[in-house]
Amino acid sequence: MMAMEAEADPVRRALGITATGRPVHPRFPFVLYHQAGRAIGAGVTTDIAVAVYGTDPRFGVDAIGTQPAAVATTLAAAETEPTLIVSAGTAGGFANRGGAIGSVYLSAAPVVFHDRRIPLGAFEPYGVGSYPTIGTDKIAEAAGVEPGVVTTGNSLDAPAVDRATMESAGAHAKDMEAAAVAWVAESLGVDFAAVKAITDLIDTPEPTADQFERNLTHATERLAEMIPAVLRALLR
Ligand code: SAH
Repeated sequence: MMAMEAEADPVRRALGITATGRPVHPRFPFVLYHQAGRAIGAGVTTDIAVAVYGTDPRFGVDAIGTQPAAVATTLAAAETEPTLIVSAGTAGGFANRGGAIGSVYLSAAPVVFHDRRIPLGAFEPYGVGSYPTIGTDKIAEAAGVEPGVVTTGNSLDAPAVDRATMESAGAHAKDMEAAAVAWVAESLGVDFAAVKAITDLIDTPEPTADQFERNLTHATERLAEMIPAVLRALLR
């Protein structure tokens, strides 16, 4: 499951996916690239579907954020009946936790929302979510990526109130889709993992948007480079 075409293109190439994209639903912009029997190295062959959320028809930009992610995951899963759902893409990182531009993280702890504050008893943990991942430190190590905590919200910025949640979760990567995809996967009873390459460090002075634009190509190349090994390690 991928948010931006700029992220998906190198990943499709790294996985050798040549299938043409087709719409998953006539009313939504989501595009599915579904290919059977892809060899992903080390003798592992699997069916792979890369789903991209597509271009929002009204705003003309990539349909990023949690609601396209959840709907696209639901529709793509209904069509492909996956045994593993992966939220792959870019994320903001944290220099104070060893993050660097181009680092690739595998979720090795439950994925949480960092911007859903509902201080109403049992709604509070509901808001945070905390959805399971099959990623572990060992799987990350086998794949040659970093194990980490991925948190999700619907904004690119990181106001203090969100930063406090990320801090208590021990976040390594903050994105805008993973927890939504993870919620669908948990609901469907399908294994889930997030793989995120760092485009920007949120605890450094340069504005996030500037870092994001400058580093997007580099980070997505790193993501594409690591994705076959991550899939192999997850599927083992
Ligand atoms: N301004 C960009 C829009 C991309 S928004 C553009 O014009 O192309 C950021 C996308 O990358 C989201 O899909 C999100 O999951 C991820 N991302 C990267 N860095 C992020 C950060 N610091 N915070 C939240 N999401 C981030």
